[in-house]
This record gives sequence, C-alpha cells and structure tokens, in this order.
Amino acid sequence: MKPILVTAALPYANGPVHIGHLAGCYIPADVFVRYMRLKGEDVKFICGSDEHGVPITIKAKAEGISPQQVVDKYHKMMGDSFAEFGISFDIYSRTSNKKHHETASGFFKQLYDTGKFTEQVTEQYYDEEAKQFLADRYIEGTCPKCGNEKAYGDQCENCGSSLSPSDLINPRSKLSGSKPVMRETKHWFLPLNDYAPWLREYILVGHKNDWKPNVYGQCKSWLDAGDGLQPRAMTRDLDWGVPVPIPGAEGKVLYVWFDAPIGYISATRELLPDKWEHYWKNPDSRLIHFIGKDNIVFHCIIFPAILKAHGGYVVPENVPANEFLNLEGDKISTSRNWAVWLHEYLNDFPGKQDVLRYTLIATAPGNKRQRFYLA
Ligand SMILES: [Zn+2]
Repeated sequence: MKPILVTAALPYANGPVHIGHLAGCYIPADVFVRYMRLKGEDVKFICGSDEHGVPITIKAKAEGISPQQVVDKYHKMMGDSFAEFGISFDIYSRTSNKKHHETASGFFKQLYDTGKFTEQVTEQYYDEEAKQFLADRYIEGTCPKCGNEKAYGDQCENCGSSLSPSDLINPRSKLSGSKPVMRETKHWFLPLNDYAPWLREYILVGHKNDWKPNVYGQCKSWLDAGDGLQPRAMTRDLDWGVPVPIPGAEGKVLYVWFDAPIGYISATRELLPDKWEHYWKNPDSRLIHFIGKDNIVFHCIIFPAILKAHGGYVVPENVPANEFLNLEGDKISTSRNWAVWLHEYLNDFPGKQDVLRYTLIATAPGNKRQRFYLA
C-alpha cells in the first residue's frame, strides 16, 4: 500500500477563517481524506498555522501587541473553527513552534552547506529612526502612475499598478513616518532558473494530463515566460521569523515562503517522530497539496525546487487548487470585511455545520467563479 500524505494550505495567522477558505481548500481536502480512510488507505492529513511574515508584524504594530500575541490569538481561533466544522486533520500545528524552527533552519543550512544558494547584495530602503530595513508593505508614497498618495511599496491599490519601492515619489516609512534611505543588504537566493529544465520535465511532461487545467496552465505560463524563472531571495530583513542560521546573517530571517511549506514536514515530524520519513522520503509516497489558487506558484514551482535542491524528498504528485468562492457575486475579501466568518456563522446557526459543509461541497468552486447565497 502506498503511503498518502495530504496537506491543506497553512492558513495565515492574521485573521479568522471564512467560508471561502473552507470551500477552496479545507473541505475538498477533508472529503478526499475521509474517502481514503474509508478505503483503508495509509493516509495522513497535515495542516497548521502559518505564523511568520510581514503582515503579522504590521498587525502587531497596529494593535500595540507582540507578533507572538497576534499569532497566538488567531492560531487558537482558526484551530477551533476547523475542529468545529469537522475538518479531520491528524495534526494542526504551527510554524512558530520549536520543532518547525529546527526543521526549517536545518533545511536552509543543508542547502547553504551544499552551495545551493547564491549571495547577492542589493540596495533596499532603510528607516534610520526605526533602525530597520523596510519590507515593501512598510513603505508608502505617491504612485508615479495615478498620483495616489497612499500607494504601497509593492502596489497601488487605487490604479492597480504593481510597483517596486524605488518607483514611489516621496517615499515614507510607515514605521516612523521618516524618509527612508537606500542601504546595502545581503541576501541568499535560490537560482530557480537552474531548476527550470527539471521543472519543465516534472510538470509539463509528467503532469500534463493529471493536474487540474487551472494549475497546469498557470505553471506553464510561468515556465514559458519570456524572461524565464529568476533567482529568488530566500531571506528577508525582519525580526520575526526563523533566524537565518549562518554567520553574517544577523537580523535576517527565512523568507516566509521558504519556511511555510517546510511546515508540512515539521508537522509530520511532530505527529510521527519515528515514522515521518515513511511519508516524505519513501519514493512510493503520494504527496498531495490542497491549496487555494493564489498559492499555485509556491507549491508547484518554488517548494518542489527547494525539495529537489535538498534531495531525498518526494515532490508533490498533485496540487489541486480551487478557484475562489464568491459571495453574492462579489469576491470574498478579508480586508473589505466581505465574508461569512465561521465563528459568526456558528453564532447564527448553532449546530448547523453539516448544512454549510454540504452546501459548499455541492457548489464547490471549480473552473469558474460561482455564486453562493447563504439563505
Ligand atoms: Zn496608482
């Protein structure tokens, strides 16, 4: 019997869970796992909270609490919602725990020791008052395209242009309000371009017929893009996350998209300290990632390249990603508070979890956006 490891996307610990999350990822994964269990298959179901990255630190600053307090709050809230809605994880872990830090750190160290990274010094905005480098979302300024004075370092929400921080006119630090200066900083990059031939073989040849068309199509357009895959920084200047475990990297942490998928491995180790390799290192093992469509590139391109660079691990056999669920014809949005939150649903409809589960399965978002009305 082939071992099957099913993961559901690690939800980001900066807000509660809504019905769009359930519909897009957690219910399809749960249905699949329950079916496999009924068939007597050797299956494990892994998930946990993704607790690193810049939005957590921004939320902490805004609320005047620590990043740990932010993730403690939402980790509990999300875990409770999943349990209440019968999502039958074998483990719901979290990436701020020690086992994960140890696993992610070890992974990075192995890649570093075997020369899989390139080092690059680049110039980045630095806040001299707050004494730290500024992530894109920490910089605000005037959009060069439309004149909106509150554009972010990576995007203008008024005109939709994607920007880089140096495009902004009159950049300001969101931490101190001061004018940031350019300063040199060193980072470690995974040369994705080196893995392009392998990725083409793995995806475009190997999974042409068994990956969902939306997933395959997005991968193909990344792999076929004119400028090809580019080296991608696997470290960040930030004080919240897994510290970069090498000399000369003080004040830097692992890029959240480096450490988050490794969270699937850490959680499996936590669940099965003596048997986790049976699911991750056995060539017969079937690794299946259920995700939302916004995470396709990370699970289909970047994480497989990281696993390949490390060696000894299986790569995903399938990455079923669903489209987003609409609510009354409009896209569900956490920032616009346009959602049905699970904890609020339970207040209004106590004991009616199965009604929602059934409805979301019956109207599962497939290839197109679908409407969903809560009667
Ligand atoms: Zn603009």
